[in-house]
Amino acid sequence: MILKSKGYLSTDLSSDYAGGMWAYIGREKSPSSSVNVRAIEAIRYKVVDKIKNEILEEIEESKAFFQVYDGAVYMNQGKTFLVKHLDLSSRIAWCQEADVNYYTKTRDFTVIHVIGSHIAYPARINNDQFTHTTAQKHVCKVTTTWFGFRRIWRRSNQVLDTVELSLPDYTYESQTAVEASQYSFRGGLHAAGHAILNVVPLYIICNQSDIASECANPHDNHYVPERILLYDPHPGGTGISAKVQPLFLELLSSALELLSSCHCSGDAGCPNCVQNLACHEYNEVLHKDAAIMIIEV
Ligand SMILES: [Zn+2]
Ligand SMILES: [Zn+2]
Repeated sequence: MILKSKGYLSTDLSSDYAGGMWAYIGREKSPSSSVNVRAIEAIRYKVVDKIKNEILEEIEESKAFFQVYDGAVYMNQGKTFLVKHLDLSSRIAWCQEADVNYYTKTRDFTVIHVIGSHIAYPARINNDQFTHTTAQKHVCKVTTTWFGFRRIWRRSNQVLDTVELSLPDYTYESQTAVEASQYSFRGGLHAAGHAILNVVPLYIICNQSDIASECANPHDNHYVPERILLYDPHPGGTGISAKVQPLFLELLSSALELLSSCHCSGDAGCPNCVQNLACHEYNEVLHKDAAIMIIEV
């Protein structure tokens, strides 16, 4: 156990969870010394209760369209609201309390364009690949497109129907750490990205929302570059991917350790290894064994 021997990880044997729980016990104890203050977004959308004329919440621009759009079911303090109208010009989502037995999930995809680099990553050298990091730090442009949403029965999680949505794309600049891969297998790259995300908190104190991986969109067959890419999912960046870049090879080897020690079965893996709760693609198109192969190379 590389991580255990380095003192980063402890396995809590008192836990009855199969294999025990892994917990961060590294040296960096104070988040304030290690994480940049998150960029505060100036533009926010107001969620307003139409009947009471009361502001329920303000949502950062980069997150707004995931939560509020015409027909969205929006939750606030245990109450369920239906978004009646999202006014893009005034940035107000007009809502009304509603008794509905479904929830909604957007259908969207995010494209990450690495700026100042095409395939300019150095090739990995086979015999000393673990002696230096080959991951590159870059500025990137993150663009999310929303094309619809699903209404899903609360009780059964069955899709009730799919609704089209027309919203403007949202683009912001951020920072990324990219590692080139020889493989283009989408499910494997997606799973490898998640596995690395799952080990990042063992090295760097951060919130799950401070770092994201490039996720393969199952409904989109345009070209996806052969790479494992982590980025800061906030306009301007959080500084986490910059901290990730020099650690990339260590992260790859702990991700490999995580994947090969996880006893779950099936390509889709489990939340302990290749699944990620924040995945915008709802953990579709994941392949655990392919991820092991990609990281091992
Ligand atoms: Zn697993
Ligand atoms: Zn994902």
